Amino acid sequence: MAQHSEDTQPFLVAENISVEFNGKPAVQDISLTVERGEVVAIIGPSGSGKSTFLRCINHLQSPTSGTVRIDGVAITEGRDRHPNARDLAQLRRRVGMVFQQFNLFPNLTALENVMLAQIHALGRSKQEAREKALALLDRVGLAERANHRPDECSGGQQQRIAIARTLALDPLVVLFDEPTSALDPELGAEVLTVMRELAEAGMTMIVVTHEMQFAEDVADRLVFISDGRIVEEGKPRDVLRNPQHPRTQRFLHAVL
Ligand code: ADP
Ligand code: MG
Repeated sequence: MAQHSEDTQPFLVAENISVEFNGKPAVQDISLTVERGEVVAIIGPSGSGKSTFLRCINHLQSPTSGTVRIDGVAITEGRDRHPNARDLAQLRRRVGMVFQQFNLFPNLTALENVMLAQIHALGRSKQEAREKALALLDRVGLAERANHRPDECSGGQQQRIAIARTLALDPLVVLFDEPTSALDPELGAEVLTVMRELAEAGMTMIVVTHEMQFAEDVADRLVFISDGRIVEEGKPRDVLRNPQHPRTQRFLHAVL
């Protein structure tokens, strides 16, 4: 039986991604494929290129070389060279990202923070955006914080608002860059719970994290990056408990 093209290629393909800053390599020839619904955790020392690689996937950073394709469309193409610039802009918008710093608008309520991009980026009506925002705030356990400003919320609540804001744009994939690193363990745990539920609901996720327990429990695959390269990858349990490469062994010995 003939297969549809979207069934034959991985959902997200990053191919030979390299990034240089002033001639210095930050990411060196990283290739990674992610299937629909898969959760990939990325670990590695500080300064090893994890954030830079993640930023290439949602086009916050243009790679020096290499391509990223989502659903067969090259997200890294120049807009002018692309056959359908509007589709490309739409696609880029649907790569969600959650940062260590929550980047909420301080003068807007939780509800308004989750509504805003829906109205401006997607052209949804206020009513539609509000309904979606309320449903998502409820989903992350924050229905009763809807009318509070970020400074009236805990860090964990702020990060959950940021996750709701990302989900409001109907992302195809969500990239998390150390989403709990700025939080106390207790507040980080409530964020990890939301992320776990999101994974269980089938969201495609790439998560840069230092939370090894989360990686082992939730991720389908664990990737260890050092000096801008993938050193080792595999099932989280295998990599964490039985790392093969000396560099991975040293890193895990230091952090576990
Ligand atoms: P990680 O997220 O693993 O800590 P980063 O991707 O932030 O690592 O950084 C990788 C390397 O690239 C580091 O040496 C960092 O100093 C450098 N770097 C990151 N962003 C920039 C930038 N915008 N300009 C110059 N150098 C950068
Ligand atoms: Mg980083």
